[in-house]
Amino acid sequence: MSVPVALGLLWGATTHQGARRKLNEDSYLAGGPVFFVADGMGGHDAGEVASASAVAALRPLVGSEVVGVDDVRCRVRLAHDTVRAIETSPGRGAGTTLTGVALTHQGGEPYWLVVNLGDSRTYRLADGELEQVSVDHSEVQEMVDAGALTREEAATHPRRHVVTRALGAPEDPEADFWFLPVHAGDRLLVCSDGLTTEVGDPRIAQILLVEPDPQVAADRLVREALAAGGRDNITVIVVDATGLTDALERTAPRDGRPDHEDDEDTVPRRSPWKGALT
Ligand code: MN
Repeated sequence: MSVPVALGLLWGATTHQGARRKLNEDSYLAGGPVFFVADGMGGHDAGEVASASAVAALRPLVGSEVVGVDDVRCRVRLAHDTVRAIETSPGRGAGTTLTGVALTHQGGEPYWLVVNLGDSRTYRLADGELEQVSVDHSEVQEMVDAGALTREEAATHPRRHVVTRALGAPEDPEADFWFLPVHAGDRLLVCSDGLTTEVGDPRIAQILLVEPDPQVAADRLVREALAAGGRDNITVIVVDATGLTDALERTAPRDGRPDHEDDEDTVPRRSPWKGALT
């Protein structure tokens, strides 16, 4: 018999237009049990509208007792259709990245469902180690996968902002999904490339390890990205899984163990968006 596990979530979220951009084309959704970041592209205000539309399509999941993978898939599909319908100037298309996490259940156990399209990122900090869960849909990631580029070279490559998949693309988007079991003390980071192009993973890990409050950690990451140049819009969500340990202690026997500059623009690869800014 499986014992229902009480799970708490704490989170902090923040966004900043950065030091160079006039608009903030990033949008986010942070409300248990769903946490998403979208980084829009398309020129003028199309990027802003695209990222806002994408998170709006996911917003009905906020406050859900149980979120299923099909609910998330449907919402991602709806987000795509909404972004596709955005009116843009001729030759331009609105698009947006989307990444994030929903707390779901599989067989009565809590799981993180991580979703990704594009080059925004979702990371997990577990047992003191920061791991990038999402895999970027970008030209440089393809070159890294092919062994043509190292991760270090990718960070400064001139085509590092070219995304290969996005919501609103002419082809139907194929989002990646991962299921990760939830452990007490897990910390998830969902962010736009305005953070990861300015602040390296080791420094991100350091800040996440020393700042216990998720809002303080999110604010500090944004400040670091600004201090490093802030060439792009910066969005950060930090989510902590809490309460598992408490729940297990309550159900455990007393004497036993519980059983259980514009050069930082993201640009889409295909022609309708050539030169689009995010
Ligand atoms: Mn960006």
